[in-house]
Amino acid sequence: MKLVVLGSGTSVPHPHRASPAFWLETNGGVILLDISPDAPHRMAEEELDWPNLDAIWVSHFHFDHFGGLAPFLFSLKWAPQTQKRVNPLHIYGPVGVRNLINAINDANNYRLFAQPFPIEIIEVVAGENFEILTGITAGTIKTPHTKESLALHLTEQTGKVFVYTSDTGVSEEISNFAAGADLLLMECSFRRNKPLETHLELIDAMRMAQDARPNKLVLTHFYPEWDEIDDIVCEARTLWAGEVVEATDGLTLEI
Ligand SMILES: [Zn+2]
Ligand SMILES: [Zn+2]
Repeated sequence: MKLVVLGSGTSVPHPHRASPAFWLETNGGVILLDISPDAPHRMAEEELDWPNLDAIWVSHFHFDHFGGLAPFLFSLKWAPQTQKRVNPLHIYGPVGVRNLINAINDANNYRLFAQPFPIEIIEVVAGENFEILTGITAGTIKTPHTKESLALHLTEQTGKVFVYTSDTGVSEEISNFAAGADLLLMECSFRRNKPLETHLELIDAMRMAQDARPNKLVLTHFYPEWDEIDDIVCEARTLWAGEVVEATDGLTLEI
């Protein structure tokens, strides 16, 4: 698998950290993990094959994770690069994702589903296992963030495991869910004194990493307060000795 960080930031506009989106290439196709308002143009900026994207994962309905979906569907409809596409685009998300996109679609007769190729929306219940791409098994678990928010666990036929927490508060269940992942992509919204329980600060993230023991931990979803810190990895490593990587926009990692 190959991961490209498109957005290592949050909903807060930032000069170097776009809102959350991650491009994941697998041997069963390509999936976009969260589709922030910045995601469509970031895919183009990284020269990725966005016209042939196979699937989109929406972790929850906050705009920094979902807000690019309607604009992206609107662009697929009109882009010259997609007019000859025949393969369907699968959109996976929590229960309610269909209603949400339909509500936007109906609000102004956008006709977002009148595409050159089929769009299929699949609603996923927490705890469900399913095939997300050909030969790629997905599992989900509820995260303590919003009522619908889900973490995602992917297993490739090669045995490689990738886990994406998306936004979450502290959860022992999520550490267990991520146990032994080859790459764990985890939010680390705040450095310390987090203003709300539905996100992680550094010590929370590193405690969860200690329990999960991933081969590689990638921290992301950085609020602007992190700008004051020169070396996030160095600070993280004082709390957990495993391999830690700071997500930065454009970073590419092989899994
Ligand atoms: Zn977020
Ligand atoms: Zn959120």
